[in-house]
Amino acid sequence: MAHALYDTNNIFAKILRSEIPCKKLDECDYTLTFHDINPQAPIHVLIIPKGAYIDLDDFAQNASSEEQAAFLVAIGNEAKLTGASENGYRLITNIGGFGHQEVPHLHAHILGGEPIGSMRAR
Ligand code: 5GP
Repeated sequence: MAHALYDTNNIFAKILRSEIPCKKLDECDYTLTFHDINPQAPIHVLIIPKGAYIDLDDFAQNASSEEQAAFLVAIGNEAKLTGASENGYRLITNIGGFGHQEVPHLHAHILGGEPIGSMRAR
């Protein structure tokens, strides 16, 4: 069951229901991967679980071990598929207000294709 605070009308929930389009890269039974609408690097994709989870905390506490494993495996697969893993990439999952999470459905960003810079440059 979804977390009581999960917003079923968030943008990624709408993408999962095919109510709005996305530039899909890949999917499996548990995850969907698509290109970020406002890319911050030559490679910028988002991996999301198909289940209704707000963020990584919610996912870690409430997702099944199958969902959790599939999410991790998908991150590795998409890094290879995009070519990001060739030279390295940054993996980000923002959580909550201070983390500047804009969409309240768990997503992992893969950023790559060029040097991403220091974590201090923010
Ligand atoms: P957050 O700040 O929540 O970690 O990142 C949300 C990301 O979702 C942003 O990088 C933003 O560009 C992306 N995004 C927001 N709306 C859409 C959309 O409708 N489609 C796609 N593909 N990406 C979106």
